[in-house]
Amino acid sequence: MCLRSLQGSLNGIIFLLWEAARIKKYYVGTYYVPRLNRLLAVFKPTPGTYVSDLAFEGMDFSIIRDGYKMICIPGCGRCCEANSGAFILGNEVKLIPRKLAKFDQLPSFTLSVYGRKIKVYRLDVGPRGRCIFYDEEAGGCILDRFEKYRKPVICLIHYCTVFAERNGERYIKVSVKYDGKSYVPVYRHVSDDEWEGILRNLHKWKMRRIIGYRKGFERSR
Ligand code: SF4
Ligand code: SF4
Repeated sequence: MCLRSLQGSLNGIIFLLWEAARIKKYYVGTYYVPRLNRLLAVFKPTPGTYVSDLAFEGMDFSIIRDGYKMICIPGCGRCCEANSGAFILGNEVKLIPRKLAKFDQLPSFTLSVYGRKIKVYRLDVGPRGRCIFYDEEAGGCILDRFEKYRKPVICLIHYCTVFAERNGERYIKVSVKYDGKSYVPVYRHVSDDEWEGILRNLHKWKMRRIIGYRKGFERSR
């Protein structure tokens, strides 16, 4: 099954994420499915697990198997190091080891959704909007040291959608084209050598970003 599309009002999106957080242990991956032209966050809960019909829709796994599974490049950190907009929901904080964050000291707000109060804690309160769980020196999320499902659900299901894999091969998004009805991403297969080159360039761009941030910081002093 997959999470319904994250669109519409903030309250509606937070409701979907809250329901997804309840079963995030069963998250499988996020796929771009060409025949539906949709990005789907896929979950496989065990039989008997309560799943909200308002938040999830059934999906034949044979449809998903044709899709491109989104991947994140270890060490990239672009989503976390600045202007991250990172947040975590009230029903997820119990999964974060206590020593890592004092949630009662973080800015937060509460939304009322379908009669339920949902608390949202902001994590983007580090320098330049960096997520508090991002380790800039090591270049990664400190929550990666624990089970994957402990991460905020938004971090689990959200991707830049540039990097993907399908049937053990790697792909990158090279453009978006209009097919007469909607905009469709175009993925191109990359060889192992090209992939290595992309990773090297990503590392260089990352170093340039960090140098840029530091120069900006020094200018502002
Ligand atoms: S999702 Fe993409 S941009 Fe974000 S950290 Fe991963 S590779 Fe980098
Ligand atoms: S929790 Fe981890 S993955 Fe999510 S924004 Fe923070 S550092 Fe990035």
